[in-house]
Amino acid sequence: MNLAFRLKMAKQKGEALIRERKIDSLPVDPFAIAVDHDILVEPKPDTEPGVSGMLLRHGDVFGILYATYIPSEGYQRFSVGHELGHYFLDGHIDHVLPEDGVHASRAGFVSADPYELEADHFSAGLLMPSTLFSRALSRAGQGLVAVESAAGLCRTSLTATAIRYAELTDDAVAVVVSTGKTIDYCFLSDTIKSLPQLTWLRKGTPVPRQTATAQFNADPSRIANADRTEADIDIMDWLGGTRSVEAVEEVIGLGSYGKTLTVLTCPSLVDEAYQDEDEDEDADLEERWTPRFRR
Ligand SMILES: [Zn+2]
Repeated sequence: MNLAFRLKMAKQKGEALIRERKIDSLPVDPFAIAVDHDILVEPKPDTEPGVSGMLLRHGDVFGILYATYIPSEGYQRFSVGHELGHYFLDGHIDHVLPEDGVHASRAGFVSADPYELEADHFSAGLLMPSTLFSRALSRAGQGLVAVESAAGLCRTSLTATAIRYAELTDDAVAVVVSTGKTIDYCFLSDTIKSLPQLTWLRKGTPVPRQTATAQFNADPSRIANADRTEADIDIMDWLGGTRSVEAVEEVIGLGSYGKTLTVLTCPSLVDEAYQDEDEDEDADLEERWTPRFRR
């Protein structure tokens, strides 16, 4: 089974749990789900940096500890969702915690370990189930404002929400998380993927020079202060390719997380997609009617 498929299944497992529990409004409460399964959840202030949370096992009794060094409710809820992923996903307990002890997690799409990534995707599906999330997006605008609005409703972190936004929106967006001069990850929406010959911004590649994000990241205090900036750009500045499209680059520092979120939006590309649909409909109508006229 390839990794992309495994991650999709993990996300769907998180969403299935929401359906089983008949949850039909946001936010989803991962703490309540844990309690219902007799899993004790507690904060753990003294985890080592990078550890987002822990799953504990004693026989068939499980507990969750979540890190608090990042004082973000969204991050902490996502971390609890990640540990629930290890609890609910097939094969996880056997792999990460086959006997009594502790599994230390690195949640938040930063690990390359497939089990950690599966647990992240489970958490995303659990806290941002596609039906409820898409409904929220339909009245949330575009770009960073949409991410912030959905994050407020789901009580999830800006980064996890931005990734889910890129996955589920019809808008032409790219979501980039960076640390200093380096890209941590980049997610593209389906609409923006339609641009020809894009360069994939892989983990570890440099933030393109001369972008608003590169300038922003040169001053760590702006990241720590959760400053923002914005610039009108050409999408080729970031994604290369062969087609010039006007875009907006929105940048926000993620405070003590030490990273920066960049949301790139091409508003005109969405309009084009709608136009294409309209044209297709016109063409369909013509096809349907023309034979009658000929008779
Ligand atoms: Zn984990």
